[in-house]
Amino acid sequence: MDPKSYKQTLLDQLYAPYKNCTQCPLGTMGRTNVVFGEGNPDAKLLFVGEGPGRDEDQQGRPFVGRSGKLLTKTLEGLGLERKDVYIANVVKCRPPGNRAPTPLESSICMSLFLFNQIKIIRPKIICTLGATALQGLLGPDIKISKVRGSLQRKDDLLILPTYHPAYILRNATQLGTFVGDIAKALELIGA
Ligand code: URA
Repeated sequence: MDPKSYKQTLLDQLYAPYKNCTQCPLGTMGRTNVVFGEGNPDAKLLFVGEGPGRDEDQQGRPFVGRSGKLLTKTLEGLGLERKDVYIANVVKCRPPGNRAPTPLESSICMSLFLFNQIKIIRPKIICTLGATALQGLLGPDIKISKVRGSLQRKDDLLILPTYHPAYILRNATQLGTFVGDIAKALELIGA
């Protein structure tokens, strides 16, 4: 078995027992799908967002709504496709009303999924989209305004924080910065 399909098998095995997960409060708050994540299991670049919105909850796929379209277009503009990277979230179930996940929800979900996804995929760079993903990986005290665009190290992980695409949809003047950060991530993986 080649290493790529081996990683996909491990990801499938991670997801399988939790397709109707109720390990954290979000599991009983009306979500439709547990949105595990998708992409190339052998990707050098992993994007981590906050959590599914309405479209993602309905379709069971990450970043397919307006924010996702911006992320996809940005990648394509830089010569990459979604299938070349892996895309996941801090929490896998939609928080009601699109609120931010609580620290408890985030920590339960990351322990079950995201940390294991990272161990399986072993990306060169993790690009965090927004404050929830950044703080989920680097701790609650880190400020996106301070570290955005600069490479952070935690243990053996290299993390490049940037804005959440939803923020860019509300603040179009920051689009160039967002694109520049993702271009930097691509440069760091040698794409
Ligand atoms: N926002 C996120 O943080 N993640 C998604 O998958 C979609 C929107």
